[in-house]
Amino acid sequence: MVKTISRNDPCFCGSGKKYKKCHSDIHPESRAVRLIQTYRKYERKIEDYQKSTGNIPPCQKGCYNCCYDDFSITEIEFEFIMRELKTWSKDRVEKIYDTALDQCETIKNERPDTWRNLEIYTPNDGTIIVEQMKKHMTVGRNSFPCPLLDPETKSCSVYDSRPLICRSFGSTHHRINQSTRVEICEYIPDSVEHATMTPNVNDETAETIEYVHLRLPDGSTIQQRPYPIYYWFKIFFDRTGKKEAQYNHYDSSVNFNQSLEQANLYTLKGFNLI
Ligand code: SF4
Ligand code: SF4
Ligand SMILES: [Zn+2]
Repeated sequence: MVKTISRNDPCFCGSGKKYKKCHSDIHPESRAVRLIQTYRKYERKIEDYQKSTGNIPPCQKGCYNCCYDDFSITEIEFEFIMRELKTWSKDRVEKIYDTALDQCETIKNERPDTWRNLEIYTPNDGTIIVEQMKKHMTVGRNSFPCPLLDPETKSCSVYDSRPLICRSFGSTHHRINQSTRVEICEYIPDSVEHATMTPNVNDETAETIEYVHLRLPDGSTIQQRPYPIYYWFKIFFDRTGKKEAQYNHYDSSVNFNQSLEQANLYTLKGFNLI
């Protein structure tokens, strides 16, 4: 059943502002709401943990080294970033596209294997995703930073809309980090030790599975492939030929103004899956 929210009700995000003055463009049962709620859960968990234990993550002040990391994010996370880009000037958005498309060229030249893997599209093929994740682990860092890192201030230009990994890297851990000793970054050499000074976010991460993937009418799911941020810009540019802040699905904000159920249906139809 679709939940109703009046324009004067408090916004679902917990900001205390009225819905009409806050996230009024977002359907109260959409994927986007679930994503924002996950973001808030992470924020609260990190804050509560730090208050109650006094443990502060070992990140160096002003460090942005992990913005050079090779990693992927999901489509809904990227669309949430796009939503913020819609408030930017046309020129600024175009510049970000140019940076990202240049980075695609760099990957193509520097790491043709990585590029080939990104260019393979086989719906619901888990092995391609596993291969992609392995490449991320092997590469570690790119020769360029995330296109969303402001080159002047060296800070995130979409801080409020940044993806999950950027919210949690360095300040949280997963169960696996407690058993396998790996280096997280040059300042955090031991994941097992790191797990003793950060909160565990296994449960919050597990929840994302419910809304990141597409659900078929028979209850099964279609896995949504994550991509690096620079590559998402290419995907969006290829779909429309425009360097504009836009939503993905045929320029419809399917993840924002429709309930999760409707969005699934719309997306599945779009991909000719039903
Ligand atoms: S995780 Fe490491 S590289 Fe990233 S901000 Fe923290 S200290 Fe810097
Ligand atoms: S989204 Fe922001 S925090 Fe995340 S890698 Fe890009 S610039 Fe860094
Ligand atoms: Zn809100």
